[in-house]
Amino acid sequence: MKQKVYKFDYRYRIRGSLVSMRGSIRQLAWRIPEGAYHKALRAEAEVIGGSLNDLLWNLAIYRHAMQRVVDALWDLDKVPSRTQVHRMFYNVLRGYGFRAHVARNIYDQALALVKATRESNGSKPVLRKLSARLDYQDTKVDLDRGMIRIILRDQWYTLKLKHKREYIERFRSLRWKEVHVKYVNGKLFMSIVFELVYKPYTPRGIVALDINLRTITIYDGSKVRRYRTRFVDVLSKRKRAEDLQKKYSKRWRYNEKILSRVRELHRRARNIAVDWSWKLAKQVVQKALIKGYAIALEDLEGLREKVNSKSDEVVWKFAMFAYRRLQYSIISKAIEYEVPVVVVDPRNTSSLCPRCGEKLIYIHRLAICRKCGFKVDRDSIGAMNIWLRALHAYAGGAWVTPKSLCDEGWSQTG
Ligand SMILES: [Zn+2]
Repeated sequence: MKQKVYKFDYRYRIRGSLVSMRGSIRQLAWRIPEGAYHKALRAEAEVIGGSLNDLLWNLAIYRHAMQRVVDALWDLDKVPSRTQVHRMFYNVLRGYGFRAHVARNIYDQALALVKATRESNGSKPVLRKLSARLDYQDTKVDLDRGMIRIILRDQWYTLKLKHKREYIERFRSLRWKEVHVKYVNGKLFMSIVFELVYKPYTPRGIVALDINLRTITIYDGSKVRRYRTRFVDVLSKRKRAEDLQKKYSKRWRYNEKILSRVRELHRRARNIAVDWSWKLAKQVVQKALIKGYAIALEDLEGLREKVNSKSDEVVWKFAMFAYRRLQYSIISKAIEYEVPVVVVDPRNTSSLCPRCGEKLIYIHRLAICRKCGFKVDRDSIGAMNIWLRALHAYAGGAWVTPKSLCDEGWSQTG
């Protein structure tokens, strides 16, 4: 994590009490950087229009043509320029029945491959996979129906994606850039690459999320909200699967019935975790977007203190899986909607006073600061501290000026 010292000097309100902060802090947060992001939809596909054999034959010709260009380029002492490559191969490739832009794609890819291999002192590239890279001129993507039409040489094929609707739905609002088709182990796979340029807006406020196995606590500077997660549900399914494995430790692998039961539990657990994470991510991101807020999350490194039963390796592993899933979903949705995301240092977010930084003591579920008298229930502390760290980063950096904090009802010191 990058660390930098920032000076800050401003006041904020927590639960109605005015607090002033003055001093300097290490930078405890970083932003998801702007730029271009790619995301791929990967799914098995079946040919529903045209014949699979024809398609495989065309892929084989594609591979053969590309290999021929690679071989010829490899034999030259010097890698030729693109103009030279065009002169050498364009007509040959057109002779194979490839359309003009596909012929150009093939020699471009071959040229890039040879250059990269030469630079890394590799041996001559041999293309083994049956695959092709197609752009918008060769492809029609219909995500609503989960269908893709592709043209290879002069033949159109219609393919149906064999994947859950919910998964495909996630990509519907994105712009696709290219499509890859490949044939591996007797199965046809498509991957559709989407590109989006992330340019987050300047936030007017922050919404902080504290993620736990049972609850998600959300703090926006004035209110604390809680959502129950579905992770406990998922965990119990996983535990049931593991109990089965323990109970039949010798034969569960070989017994069809137990094996399929174990697999089914794992599959359902995973689906619930994934679907629920996307659902929550969508809600959080849309709310942040409407208010023009940034989302603040904890960095997952060093999160060990969050799981109470440290001895339970199963719970721990699952918790990390769940947190990663949820965080990935939130960041991914935020990138899609250009919502800014701040990731903060998670150390001591549940043990330090958000007002004065002193160590808190707990009486049942109530956290009390003996130094400044601040009192709040245990579940809110994490979200408040995450929110504060993000605010410090914003105030310290050039992202949000104290002036704009004033506009939000914040008052500046001095
Ligand atoms: Zn305090």
